[in-house]
Amino acid sequence: MPAAFHPFTFDNSYVRDLETLCVRWQPSPSPRPQLLRLNADLAQTLGADPAALSSPEGVALFAGNALPEGADPVAQAYAGHQFGGFSPQLGDGRALLLGEVINRHGQRRDIAFKGSGQTPFSRRGDGKCALGPALREYLIGETMHALGIPTTRALAVVATGEMVRRERALPGAILTRVAASHVRVGTFEFVAAHRHTDDLKRLADYVIARHDPDLAEHPHPYLALLEAVAKRQAALVARWLGVGFIHGVMNTDNMALSGETIDYGPCAFLESYHPRTVFSSIDAQGRYAYGRQAAMAQWNLARFAETLLPLIDTDMEKAIADATAVIDAFPEIHQQHWLTVMRAKLGLDDRGDPAADHQLADDFLTCLQRGRRDFTLSFRTLNTLAAGELVAPDNPLLAVGSDFHDWQHRWQARQPERNPALLDAMNHANPWLIPRNHQVEIALEAAVDRNDMAPFEHLLKAIQSPFDANPQHLPYTEPAPADVTASYQTFCGT
Ligand code: AMP
Ligand code: MG
Repeated sequence: MPAAFHPFTFDNSYVRDLETLCVRWQPSPSPRPQLLRLNADLAQTLGADPAALSSPEGVALFAGNALPEGADPVAQAYAGHQFGGFSPQLGDGRALLLGEVINRHGQRRDIAFKGSGQTPFSRRGDGKCALGPALREYLIGETMHALGIPTTRALAVVATGEMVRRERALPGAILTRVAASHVRVGTFEFVAAHRHTDDLKRLADYVIARHDPDLAEHPHPYLALLEAVAKRQAALVARWLGVGFIHGVMNTDNMALSGETIDYGPCAFLESYHPRTVFSSIDAQGRYAYGRQAAMAQWNLARFAETLLPLIDTDMEKAIADATAVIDAFPEIHQQHWLTVMRAKLGLDDRGDPAADHQLADDFLTCLQRGRRDFTLSFRTLNTLAAGELVAPDNPLLAVGSDFHDWQHRWQARQPERNPALLDAMNHANPWLIPRNHQVEIALEAAVDRNDMAPFEHLLKAIQSPFDANPQHLPYTEPAPADVTASYQTFCGT
């Protein structure tokens, strides 16, 4: 017998502590797996050797063909509000949690498959993932990581060697995902809908131990948990807005209590600025449009709060009043984070009048909206102006209309001197490069249609340093042609 493959030291707390909220299950094997991408940097953070993970044993692991020692795979149960409607039973229909490892920073991390075959939660789905969506999740997750925004990350993508049936037959893939945890608002909704208060308490205590250990001794730990989760979401959505990110499918089953961005389905980045921008093919009403994301996060938090009521207080009226106060405070907390993000983007210190700075930021956005200006390039142009450098006269920010010039006078009057720290902050708040939607499509198409990973690798390299103006990556900074953006649609990763 060959020695068992042992790339990670697993410690599987979820199945140990919350056995009733998951089902032990095995991945379906892949007929001809091919490792298309390994995240060596992430592997090392997890204490694994990238060479071992690229070996045939590593490929067999990521293909679901041979489990590593210590893995104890489970499909997690959850429910969720999808586009406002409640589904009492969703769950890991095409995913499995392999187990948890403690990374080099002492943090517990889930290692999970997506696309590893049917489970008891598959409903009518095939449990599979197509290659395009797997690569998209890899790319956008790495972008968010490079931008410094909390996110799950992809560890590996294998092509399974099997075709999956969508509108057309597409190559299948398994994505291996690493997350601070996969506990979602929907996990609590599942327990509230199906289980006893005992289970609810066990789940809440688990989340507190894992994500908010300081709250264990709090006099009102469950209300404090609600507050902590709300604060993380308030900050997260502000960070999304700062880089023009549209999640696309902010259902409660896609909101992680850890505060990480999770589930890159029909997501995309803004090109020209408009708050009602939405790219998702399934979001005809614009429920999850760019400018609605904070309101939708608050809506999801209200669903979370409802599940916690029995734990918050035995007096239901008091529980509702306490939880409502937390939900009502969300917009204000989010606005504070948004102002912090915007001040960094505009190169402003935090000594100005908050209301006036808020207005200044809003007016800049209005100016972008009126001129249909590119969100990313316009903010980045401010860095050049703030540094006192020349901006090409055909720069889109300067070229159209005079509204920007009026705004620019106010902006400069607000803070005539910008010290190096503020300029540096601007350089880390206004990316030079984001994954342009047409570039993402080019990269995915080459991989899916021609088995050519080169465009994906080039784009990945570029987005890994989004703040550096590297002339080699200049073509990636160009906005998509307007007609491409107008008809651009992203699809759920199913
Ligand atoms: P998502 O839109 O990826 O967040 O998934 C929503 C729900 O649908 C989750 O319960 C998934 O497990 C399930 N699901 C999505 N795609 C599939 C599939 N191909 N097979 C089975 N279940 C799926
Ligand atoms: Mg999901």
